[in-house]
Amino acid sequence: MTTLLWFRRDLRLADNPALDAAVAIGRPVIPVYICDDADADAGEWSPGGASRWWLHGSLSALSSAIEACGNRLILKTGPAEAVINELLSETGATNVFWNRRYEPWATRRDEKIKTALKGKGIEARSFNAGLLREPWAVTTQKGEPYKVFTPFWKALRTSGEPDQPRPAPQRIPAPNDFAESDGLNSWGLLPTRPDWAGGLRDTWIPGEQAAHSRLHDFTEGAVFEYQDKRNLPGLSGTSRLSAHLHFGEIGPRQIWHAVVASALAQTGSPMPRGVETYLSEIAWREFSYHLLFHFPELPFKPLRAEFSNFPWANDPDALSAWQRGATGYPIVDAGMRELWTTGWMHNRVRMIVASFLIKDLLIDWQTGEEWFWDTLVDADLASNAASWQWVAGCGADAAPYFRVFNPTIQGTKFDPDGSYVRKWVPEISKVPDRLIHAPWTAKPIELADAGIKLGRDYPAPIVDHSMARNRALEKYKLLKAGNTDE
Ligand code: FAD
Repeated sequence: MTTLLWFRRDLRLADNPALDAAVAIGRPVIPVYICDDADADAGEWSPGGASRWWLHGSLSALSSAIEACGNRLILKTGPAEAVINELLSETGATNVFWNRRYEPWATRRDEKIKTALKGKGIEARSFNAGLLREPWAVTTQKGEPYKVFTPFWKALRTSGEPDQPRPAPQRIPAPNDFAESDGLNSWGLLPTRPDWAGGLRDTWIPGEQAAHSRLHDFTEGAVFEYQDKRNLPGLSGTSRLSAHLHFGEIGPRQIWHAVVASALAQTGSPMPRGVETYLSEIAWREFSYHLLFHFPELPFKPLRAEFSNFPWANDPDALSAWQRGATGYPIVDAGMRELWTTGWMHNRVRMIVASFLIKDLLIDWQTGEEWFWDTLVDADLASNAASWQWVAGCGADAAPYFRVFNPTIQGTKFDPDGSYVRKWVPEISKVPDRLIHAPWTAKPIELADAGIKLGRDYPAPIVDHSMARNRALEKYKLLKAGNTDE
């Protein structure tokens, strides 16, 4: 009656239904994490560099937490099915429990594993740890998947309160002998030559405890001002829980109940405006999973078929300028440098840089999606793909094609004092506020006073936004007319 407990994107002990079920049996539990990169087959995304850095920290934290409960996390590498079979023969375990994942490759694989285990008389059970409602649990009245966010969110809200989160077990019964485990360091998840992770280390603490401390700080204050401050990248107006959520160090049920309880205690209402807006963002994550599950081609194929013929440009120099944060548009460059340094970027700025890549540079959204995949600590197949398709205008309930973010106006509106730009693009920090988002409009004397020369200390814009906007709109119009030959 030993249970194999397979950790995946649920790297926590509290509100972990698979763990609870394993402990409830009252027999030994073997917690295992499998480095299953081999299963995320080509085109379907094994973790990028920043995610691998986070994973190392998260597994290290989980391992310590499991030891404090009297057990040990076993680390194994290889295709998951083979590893599980080996562990079953080695330990004589009779049950395998896990929490579900929703990536197309993972659902296919897990289904196969479950069927094979059941065929061998092994009890294989899976649970929901990662979503408020699983993708098949919310449907339209016709029983179809939602393609528009607002009715999806309405249906989610009226589907009842999410279950109350459960506390972590105090003890996890251990077997007499522990199975062989890889050493975490041997997985090489941390970059060494070169070690580019200094900015990540300075910014983040992976793990369940750190996730709760971030949630606690957020629910005590910023959540009540979320409505007003969430779009201002120069402030800490958002929860910064995305990577913790992606790795399952915290779950959405825990977040939901924590913010509602705090709102009740502080305002007497369970859902004042900021809280409701915040929970609707958690619902965007749910919607992304809903889309990925029902439209498994989301990461690599536009949901609107006509976009398959879009005449994207192949411009390696422009792409490199975007990636390095050297486009000459301060808000774009600030975002790309924040991403490169910390592995995270503010949501408003993600939209601006994505629009710039797709519409100003006419570079394919999938190229941007891949760059984010490698550089974001919160890189998430569902949210990343859905968001890129949203900006490109080719996804479900996407931004209309004629919405082209003007980086200067966006900068002026959402970073009015330039504090965000000054932090990440320090070479223009002395440019006055009124010019900080458009330094190319400054007089030479003003630039000289700020100690810069465009083209030497900071690039001139690599593309003229008005021209680029018109060019993009022309191409989008041709696409709508079904004609992309020019
Ligand atoms: P908060 O504002 O505090 O929101 C709370 C949580 O809600 C987030 O942690 C996240 O889990 C969820 N959330 C918020 N906005 C969205 C959204 N638009 N779509 C889906 N979930 C959302 N988010 C990722 O988690 N992984 C990604 O790979 C990712 N790629 C993106 C790519 C682009 C081009 C864009 C425009 C957005 C992307 N997002 C992604 C969504 C969003 O930018 C981040 O979730 C958010 O910035 C994370 O910061 P936060 O935790 O402070 O968010």
